[in-house]
Parts: sequence; C-alpha cells; structure tokens
Amino acid sequence: MYPQRPGMPGRPPMRPSYQGQRPAPGPRREHTPRPAPPPPPAAPPPVTRTITLAEGMTVKDLADKLDMRVKDLLKKLLDKRLMMTINSTLDTDTASMLAREFGADVQMRSFEEELLQEDSEDASPDDIVTRAPVITVMGHVDHGKTSLLDAIRETRVAEREAGGITQHIGAYHVTINGRNIVFLDTPGHEAFTLMRARGAKVTDTVVLVVAADDGVMPQTKEAIDHARAAGVPIIVAINKIDKPNASPERVKRELTELDLMPEEWGGKTVTVEVSAKKKQNLDLLLEMILLVTDIGELKANPKRNASGTVLEVKLDKGRGPVATILVQDGTLHVGDTFIAGPIVGRVRALIDDRGRPVKSAGPSTPVEVLGLAGLPQPGDAFQTLADAAKARQIATFRQGQAKERALGAKGGRLTLESLQAQIAEGGMKELPIIIKADVQGSAEVLADTLTKLTDEKVKIRIIHAGVGAVNESDVLLASASNAIIIAFNVRPDRNAEEIAIRERVDIRPHSVIYNVTDEMKKAMTGLLEPTFREVRLGVAEVRNTFKVPKYGTIAGCMVSEGRITRAGDTHARLLRDNVVIYEGKIGSLRRFKDDVSEVKAGFECGIGFERFNDLKVGDLIEVFVMERVAVIA
Ligand code: GDP
Repeated sequence: MYPQRPGMPGRPPMRPSYQGQRPAPGPRREHTPRPAPPPPPAAPPPVTRTITLAEGMTVKDLADKLDMRVKDLLKKLLDKRLMMTINSTLDTDTASMLAREFGADVQMRSFEEELLQEDSEDASPDDIVTRAPVITVMGHVDHGKTSLLDAIRETRVAEREAGGITQHIGAYHVTINGRNIVFLDTPGHEAFTLMRARGAKVTDTVVLVVAADDGVMPQTKEAIDHARAAGVPIIVAINKIDKPNASPERVKRELTELDLMPEEWGGKTVTVEVSAKKKQNLDLLLEMILLVTDIGELKANPKRNASGTVLEVKLDKGRGPVATILVQDGTLHVGDTFIAGPIVGRVRALIDDRGRPVKSAGPSTPVEVLGLAGLPQPGDAFQTLADAAKARQIATFRQGQAKERALGAKGGRLTLESLQAQIAEGGMKELPIIIKADVQGSAEVLADTLTKLTDEKVKIRIIHAGVGAVNESDVLLASASNAIIIAFNVRPDRNAEEIAIRERVDIRPHSVIYNVTDEMKKAMTGLLEPTFREVRLGVAEVRNTFKVPKYGTIAGCMVSEGRITRAGDTHARLLRDNVVIYEGKIGSLRRFKDDVSEVKAGFECGIGFERFNDLKVGDLIEVFVMERVAVIA
C-alpha cells in the first residue's frame, strides 16, 4: 500500500536477533541446505585445540586443518544431511560446527590475513623497506583543498616532466628531496570515511586545509573528528595567506580550542602557512609531511605478494574494467593473478600516475590495473596470489556473501539493544557515539552527560558532536567506527537515511535529554528492551497555509510518500529543515471540503494539527505509529 519501511528511518531493517529465526536466504543454501530435523545433540568432546580457518575454505582444507581424512569429514556432513564433495566451499557456521564436533575451536581469518601470515613466515627482515606516506587532504568547502592538490601536482610534477600528467587516476605521487609522497586525489572526509567504512585503511596522514581568511568552520571540525576517529595524525595547512584579510593567528587560536595546539605555541600540531594560489610554502608543507610521517615508521616488503586497496573503478570503452589501486605492500607485476573484492583478474597492463605503462608497482604506488573480470568497488581489498583456482574460489565465495548481505541475512552491526550482549562476549570495551542536535547547547550537554556514564565495563566516547540534520558523513563515520548516532530534535536527511538503512547504522531519535541518558544506562546494563520503534507511514509537504476559524492554521499539503492518516494511534511530527518543530496529533484531515481518514501519496490535502498553529510553507509533516519490537536476547 505504501513503500515498505521496515523500521523507523535510519534504523537497521533487521536486528541481529531476527537472524536466527530466518531461514538463511540466498546462495548459502546451495552449499548448506539446513539439516531437518537436527539429531539430538550428543555431548561434544572437550575442546583440545584451536585451528585457524580462512574464508572460502573447502572441505579438504578443513580436513587438513583437523588432521583427519576427507572421507570421514564427508561422512559427518552426510550425517547432517549436507551433501558435499571434497572441493565444496564451507561457510563459517558449518565449518565451526564441524570443527567443534572434533574438539577444535575455530578462529576465522580473512583470506588476506591468511596470506599475510604465510608471507610473513618466510619474509626476511632485510626485505623490509620504508614506504612513502599516503596523504588525504580535508577541510571546509572552498578553503582550497582542490587548489592545493593541483598546486602541489603542478609545482612538483608538471614543470619537471614534459607533458606532465594528462589524466587524474585517483592518486598521484610527488618527489621531494629524493623521497616520495602519495596524495589521494579525492579530497574530503566523506571519501576518507567511506573507505574506512568499507574496511580499508589507506591514509597515513591528513592534511587539514583551513583558509586563513575564514578560519575554522563546521566541516573543519567534522574533518578533525573523522581523522581522529581513524587515529590518523593531522597536519594543518593554513591556506590563502596571500589574501589581505588573512589571519593565520586567528586560525591557530581556533585550532587550539579544538585541541590542535600549534607547535610554535608549545603544542604538538604541525601547521604550515601556504598559498595554493601563489604556490607559496608548498615545499615546506611537503617536508613537514615527511617529518611527521617518519615518526610512524611506514614499512613494507616489496618482495611479497602485492596487496592494496581499490581507489577508483571505471568501465572504459576500449580497455574494459579499469581499477586504480594503491599498492600498499608487496610488488604488483604484469601477469599477476589477483582478487579485488569479489572480482578476479590477471594484470594485463599497469599504467602509472603519469599515464605511462609500467611493468611493476611497489609499495605506496598508485597504478591503473587492466585485466579485471568485472568491476570491484572503491575500498575493496586487492591481493595477488599464485593460485588462480584459489582466486576464483574466493571470488565465488565473496560474491555469495555479497548477495547474502544484500538480502539482509548478515548483520552484526552495533545497536543499543545488542550492546550488553556484545559487552558480555568481551567484544565491546568502548561505545563510540555521534551526537547531532538542533542547537549547540544541547549537543554539548549531551556529550558531557553521556561521557560521564562511562563505567568500568564500557567507556563512552563521543567521536563527533555537531548541529544540524544527521547527514551522509555522520552515517559513514558511524559505520566506519561502529558508532551509534543520537539525533536530538533532528532527523536524518534523505540521503543519510538511505545509507543508514544500507549500512545498518542505529540512529536513535530523541527530544528529551533525560530519555537519552536513561536509554543509555539501560543499554549498558542490558536492561534496554526495545519495546517500541517508530514506523513511518507517510510524509506530506506543506505547499501553502491558511487560517480557518475554529480549526486554526491549516496546511495545504501534497502527500509525497506513503499515506497520511489520523486513524487510531498515529502521531504526527512537523519538521522544518530536518529539525523537529512539533510533535502531536493531527486534528483535521481533509480533501477539498470533506473530512477523510486517509490520503495517499500523489494527492493533495489539508492538514491541521491539534492545538498547534505554527505551520509554514516548505515544512514536512511526518506521520508514524509506534510498533512493538521483539526483545533482543
Ligand atoms: P575546495 O572546495 O576546498 O576544494 O576549494 P577550492 O580549491 O575549489 O578553492 C576555493 C576557492 O578558493 C577558489 O576560488 C580558489 O581559487 C580559491 N583559493 C584556493 N586557494 C587559494 C589561495 O591560496 N589564495 C587565494 N587567494 N585563493 C585561493
């Protein structure tokens, strides 16, 4: 009847607790049809050892690790009505269950971790080299991020090499004092955190651009929080010092207030005053980057199999799927077999950041790779391996997993209801929280009160607190940091809402500070029973308003989503620029002159609130009911 909306906006569509009750949909069933009915459980043997397993393992791999004959393992599987062969791929649950029956606990490792382990076992310390630092530029809009990236590229590359760079490939390197620095070409904390949300860690240091004529702005603060949440050091480039109204001193004062005390004032933050426009002090900035990153001792082993991260992908008419990848460790060669996320391939050609074909690419090198069988996603891990059959097997396994995720079978994302369970399992020591509020005062009070709830079991850490609607960057930060978002008198914007559902980020809407702390305390002690949650029924946009004697202000609306109803227990909420203005009940709902009980999307209607008249053109009216939610164990 109306668009399916499984939970309130921003709430994960399915909770972990539901998963057990659902039949596992998707490709997993091909491998592991569910046994029916399970045989009565015999007491399992005591656990005598722990084995490590990698994703995509076969029956044979498991038998090897368990030190038993494949034949016996297959028989066991058959007892459980699982028809498999020696080369069948096992999912994690089945493998763990089998291992447990033979007295072994299982520790899962990603395929990359497994390879890394194998590689490091036969690595020699002499092979380790220092690799170039990888930099992301962040800052408020118009403070000069793009100009700075371009200026560095031009001064350090174009003048020295005939032709310069003809194309941008997602990253480029510059050389200073015989050493390299790699810059990622997509500036901004959204791109940075998106990578993190996908599990990738590429940036070694953030260069925070602050315009000297404008000072610290909201996105400057966001960028700082995003860099801090990732544990990445920050160097500040105070830009536009050529401007007559530039005030680097003011910027430094503002930075100090954000705990980024400049070095010359006795603090630890390196600041460099630059002008991207006049190309002033750019070399000094580069030298400072090297100084700061040297402390981190960035190491790599060029002799091992190449591993890295996909930065960009495109489908090229002539060349097919092309990925820009950053090689982070090892060396990538033409002819290597690789796996990039769920995609396999064999390197047909490598093209460097100056557009030149190369035969190989070592650690901290951005290159374009040709020869992929499909398009991976930015943020996907890239790994070469000798065994092409193994590569295909992992790829198939991952494609199956991706489908499962799309179907919502796997979750595991932190929600407040599952907090206690996660603490009990020993997995949670810290609860990261993002606060968005309608006014700065509330954000500060909330940050303060929540931090004080920290007890010996859980440390509450506010990773970002700001004013305004919950936006895409907040949700990505929550996803990357496994954080919960408190939306205090604000709502997610549409984009953020979609991403929150996809990434299963828990957004908790509140309008009373006491309720936030109360909910948090209950969550920490495991007493939070998710009794109710909102289910949105529909939204209407206010197109005009008029006064009607007896009823007060009536809004002429267009229903843009779902349906508007005043039946039963429905509540209504008035939103202005994603801020909650009022919550209450609809007093009158009319089409033309008639009272109606319901109006569907695409139709106009008149809406009046009970005892509330401050309605304005452009406001949104959201109608919802509270729905009981299953209790999480
Ligand atoms: P971004 O949004 O952070 O990527 O900012 P841009 O690089 O697009 O720069 C925004 C504006 O500031 C542009 O008009 C630039 O020309 C200008 N700009 C950037 N750097 C400087 C600088 O060092 N000095 C001056 N005067 N203007 C600059």
